Amino acid sequence: MISTKRAYNFNAGPSALPIEVLQKAQEELVNFNNSGMSIMEMSHRSKDYDAVHNDAIARFKSLFSIPDNYEVLFLQGGGSLQFTMVPMNFLNEGQTASYILTGSWSEKALKEAKLLGQTQEAASTKENAYRNIPSLEDIKFSETDAYVHLTSNNTIYGTQWKEFPNTGEVPLVADMSSDILSKRIDVSSFGIIYAGAQKNLGPSGVTIVIIRKDLLEIAKTNIPTVLKYSTHSESNSLYNTPPTFGIYMLGEVLKWVEEKGGLEAIEKNNEEKAKLIYDVIDQSNGFYKGHADVESRSLMNITFRLADEELEKKFLAQAKEEGFVGLNGHRSVGGCRASTYNAVPYETCKALADFMIEFQSKNQ
Ligand code: PMP
Repeated sequence: MISTKRAYNFNAGPSALPIEVLQKAQEELVNFNNSGMSIMEMSHRSKDYDAVHNDAIARFKSLFSIPDNYEVLFLQGGGSLQFTMVPMNFLNEGQTASYILTGSWSEKALKEAKLLGQTQEAASTKENAYRNIPSLEDIKFSETDAYVHLTSNNTIYGTQWKEFPNTGEVPLVADMSSDILSKRIDVSSFGIIYAGAQKNLGPSGVTIVIIRKDLLEIAKTNIPTVLKYSTHSESNSLYNTPPTFGIYMLGEVLKWVEEKGGLEAIEKNNEEKAKLIYDVIDQSNGFYKGHADVESRSLMNITFRLADEELEKKFLAQAKEEGFVGLNGHRSVGGCRASTYNAVPYETCKALADFMIEFQSKNQ
């Protein structure tokens, strides 16, 4: 019998999955729907798989309140391939794509677009060490731009957009890899939303793309078939073999979100979880220093530092001993980071908050 003792998992991605989903997958692993085989072992053209695939699309559309003029695609290649696919499909010669820089992932998205066409920085908070999200009036773009791109949640720096710019006729493209399905959003303000699944949606391997249908028609055609959004939309994301197990898991995570009360309940829970930890930081008299400016704080990735690297090492080592996992900051910035995605339980966040208080009382 495998022990079901669960770690206090604050990994940034891949990250915690709901225990209920893991257990259901375990139950169904060797015999899915009385087929005598695992979902992983059956054809992606089979009736059983087809039902799983279509159910996940329909459930996602309904949970995320996606209007009918949008398609949901299941792709591969992670958020990183979207950095390429977006300009490859939509950045025409003579046009400019505007990128809002709020951290390393938006820098990486811009780097790929630069290889494919003309770009400009619509705003950047780099000078402030990416501690904040720019104010809406500081975003500069032109009405003839191919699109405006932003990163809705900055996984490494721990900042998150609270309100999105209105870009009018210019499609707004959002990388929502690290906060998709964590709260309600108005999908109709976006032309394209993309996200790797491995934070809030399921295991790595599936990439979700939500795309407005009219954009599929204006996309460039002289690009490789597998990199065209229209190829995947025309084949219901079954042009090539999809990551079937990942899509099955995504479907189960969506059912779990529904059982938890849907996005409104998930959002409330996420706010309460993050508050537990931010409150400790704010009430620590500077023992813990949050990286993000207060008004730009992420509810998904909580980044903080201690007085010096020695103390941070001690904090991380003791946390590890107590069963906390994934609290190291990203290797590019150091410090500490607690990722509190949808499936991280309230009790896990409470345990961290308690540990932080105790560590402070013994070390200041
Ligand atoms: N965008 C954001 C905001 C991310 O956090 C990540 C990964 N952590 C990526 C893009 C890259 O995603 P992938 O590894 O799926 O390519």
